[in-house]
Amino acid sequence: MATKRDYYEVLGVSKNASEDEIKKAYKKMAIKYHPDRNPGDKEAEEKFKEAAEAYDVLRDPQKRARYDQFGPEGVNGAGGFGGGGMNMDDIFSMFGDIFGGRGGFGGFGGGGRPRKPQYRGGDLRLKVRLTLQEIATGVTKKFKVKKKVTCSHCHGSGAEGSGATEACPTCHGSGYVIKTQQSIFGMMQTQTVCPTCGGEGTVIKNKCKECGGEGVVNGEEVVEVKIPAGVGDGMVVTVTGKGHAARRNGVPGDIQVYIEEETDKNLLREDNNLIYNLLLDIPTAALGGDAEIPTIDGKVKIKIEPGTQPGKVVRLRGKGLPAVQGYGYGTGDLIVNISVYIPETLTKEERKFLEEMRTSDSFAPRESIKEKIFKKFRSYFE
Ligand SMILES: [Zn+2]
Ligand SMILES: [Zn+2]
Repeated sequence: MATKRDYYEVLGVSKNASEDEIKKAYKKMAIKYHPDRNPGDKEAEEKFKEAAEAYDVLRDPQKRARYDQFGPEGVNGAGGFGGGGMNMDDIFSMFGDIFGGRGGFGGFGGGGRPRKPQYRGGDLRLKVRLTLQEIATGVTKKFKVKKKVTCSHCHGSGAEGSGATEACPTCHGSGYVIKTQQSIFGMMQTQTVCPTCGGEGTVIKNKCKECGGEGVVNGEEVVEVKIPAGVGDGMVVTVTGKGHAARRNGVPGDIQVYIEEETDKNLLREDNNLIYNLLLDIPTAALGGDAEIPTIDGKVKIKIEPGTQPGKVVRLRGKGLPAVQGYGYGTGDLIVNISVYIPETLTKEERKFLEEMRTSDSFAPRESIKEKIFKKFRSYFE
């Protein structure tokens, strides 16, 4: 554990400071470093906590005496807070004690400037089905979505006319309500955001007649979503700020687009590779020739060597899908798996013809050929 700063030093008071001086010093620190005034500032939060911990010890004559005599060890574990410091609930409840029940944070506001709560709009979820072609190139899709939009009458303020406000009747302007609860440490006071004003401390005098003071109304919007190339089934594309508008010009929600991949009638997908099963006729496999392969961007011809065996794999480099991470992550291949079509029905002549083949030498695999083909076959599994 990091060595703790001296509590007197933390509060900036002398060793023989009076209770009143200590209280005043803490008040000053607490206001200065309060998280509401320093949103996202970790250092301020640490200072805020440090001051609270120091005050918690020095305000109590017994703890203070132990601290003076034994240092931090003398007070660790003595109270409910232990050596690990106080949690935020403890600190805020202490706040209530100092600044007075009713006043709570309102008292702390001093200048009468209650904090403005940050409302956040809800997220919207959409689904989109994409073809392999769309996945290969990336695509922009348009969606007509029903959602909360900013009220055009009050421009989101929620107020009619002047926008005058008055103190919230529930929390009397503090923005917080104090709840007293039974806990394992005894009665504990916790402060929660006022349900009436959402922590704002004020309510609008004349609410907008279109939105009832919410600043948002039900509406519709056409949203364009850019889907990058290489996405896959189940992936989610997030469009920040395009979800529901938030109350009173708060932060709008996001749109989450869930990707569904349509099955292609020719191509199978495996990560960024595509697989095509090429079915050759016996003569082409035996004599050689050309074969057409459907790819993402049209058909390509490949050469079939004479004596091509079923099970042969041809890799068309870079003919697969791009990586969703972008260029530089490589594009997949199109893997052509060759198989040979064996006729399922035969005419009398064809049958006769095949009977002749059966006795023909070249049609029977010799031992060396069997070995060669088995070697190849085995290599697929190694
Ligand atoms: Zn309105
Ligand atoms: Zn209120």
